[in-house]
Amino acid sequence: MVGKILIVDDVATNRIVLKARLAEACYAPLLAKDGESCLAAALQNRPDLVVLDLALPDQPGTAVIEALRSNPRTADIPVIALCGPRHAAQRLPALQAGADDVLAKPVSEPLLMARIRNLLRSRAMLTDLTERGAALRDLGLAEPAATFDMPGTAALVTERRDTALRWRKLLDRRLADHVLVLSRAEALADPGATADAFVIDSDLGGAGGGLRLLSELRSRSASRHATTLLMMPDTDLPEAAMAYDMGANDICTESGGGAELALRLQRLLAQKRMADRLRASLRDGLRLAAIDPLTGLYNRRYALPRLAAIAERALLRNGAFAVMVIDIDRFKSVNDRWGHAAGDSVLVAVAQRLSDNLRGSDLIARIGGEEFLVALPDTAMPEARATAERIRAVVQNRPIPLPGGETLHVTVSIGLAGGTGAEVLQQGSLADLVNKADHALLAAKAGGRNQVMLGRSAA
Ligand code: GH3
Ligand code: MG
Ligand code: MG
Repeated sequence: MVGKILIVDDVATNRIVLKARLAEACYAPLLAKDGESCLAAALQNRPDLVVLDLALPDQPGTAVIEALRSNPRTADIPVIALCGPRHAAQRLPALQAGADDVLAKPVSEPLLMARIRNLLRSRAMLTDLTERGAALRDLGLAEPAATFDMPGTAALVTERRDTALRWRKLLDRRLADHVLVLSRAEALADPGATADAFVIDSDLGGAGGGLRLLSELRSRSASRHATTLLMMPDTDLPEAAMAYDMGANDICTESGGGAELALRLQRLLAQKRMADRLRASLRDGLRLAAIDPLTGLYNRRYALPRLAAIAERALLRNGAFAVMVIDIDRFKSVNDRWGHAAGDSVLVAVAQRLSDNLRGSDLIARIGGEEFLVALPDTAMPEARATAERIRAVVQNRPIPLPGGETLHVTVSIGLAGGTGAEVLQQGSLADLVNKADHALLAAKAGGRNQVMLGRSAA
């Protein structure tokens, strides 16, 4: 999809120059010459980003940004504000109004293009998380996460004591979050990597050191989702454009003062919290899609593709694997005699015994009311048979405590089938193997229950 970028400037030549550059970079530029036409175009065309000159003929640029932010249909469109070279005083009000960044004119083209790419990428990431969350919610699988926010941690990363002191002073009493100072090594060490935001000295341990730390943090799983702000002496440096392309979330100078630094940091932390919430609700949704809520075991929907993957892997490695179908004996009578809640606690206890007595690599799933499927990767029949026998015994040997205080002896019947990947997938199918285990289970039931039966070899 081509990014639509709305250019707002009252000077026709400015619009035309920027339009040509954006078109060259394969964006779809839209043009507006004042605040009113900007707001109309934003509503009508839903641009992916707005580049807005703060000096407009009909209304202050900050008022236009505020209007964009206050309408839910345009509130999340990134805005890059442009101000005149002698208008540094406009920076803070523009940021406060909701601009994502303010760049001074004449803007270096590589910097502007890098910032556009950077903001489009951040927005696409959030949109993607939001849409995936919405899809899971539509399936009834994700609840919106709680909105209570704990204070975050911002780590100031510099090797220079005086710099650390100055930054601390800039942020003094402006942030509700914890602020700590870390060296480069500490930022990369485990507890350091749990910070929500990293404010990084661009000169960390020498020129380019800030960029190196940035890419290290991005590549590590513990800090991959942290937000990053690079502190530079001047934002109009080639290094700034590079930092945006390397994934820095923002760049700031000390000359902007504490209010600007704190505002940028607060905004980054808020975005990070939102992304964390979205990721958590996705994780929960996916868990709900794969896990049986009663026993915590995988459900059938998840188990079948996993079983197929185990079979494929056995085929690739010339290995063997086995499948057990396990069914609780006369479970209906447990419900009938002790009630459904007691039946549930028996299911939970049996699931727990399966988990306690199998390997981490074994797949354990609840595939029906009181029926479980276990897949044993890298396991040949004699070993699989011994495992099945052990499972049968651990269910039988210890009584299960019921919620009312009584205990109950239950047993399981197990149908077992297995083979090499080649035997299963090339001489038959995975469904045949599961069928074999099912038939063996029926034979175990017919043979008196509380026993393991082997599936007869494939025809
Ligand atoms: P068999 O030895 O032949 O397997 O007999 P059975 O009684 O275990 O088998 P049957 O299929 O006749 O009954 C299974 C029972 O499992 C019936 C159903 O009410 C119960 N059941 C299924 N899901 C649940 C559940 O989530 N909780 C409880 N408490 N009972 C369940
Ligand atoms: Mg049963
Ligand atoms: Mg059954």
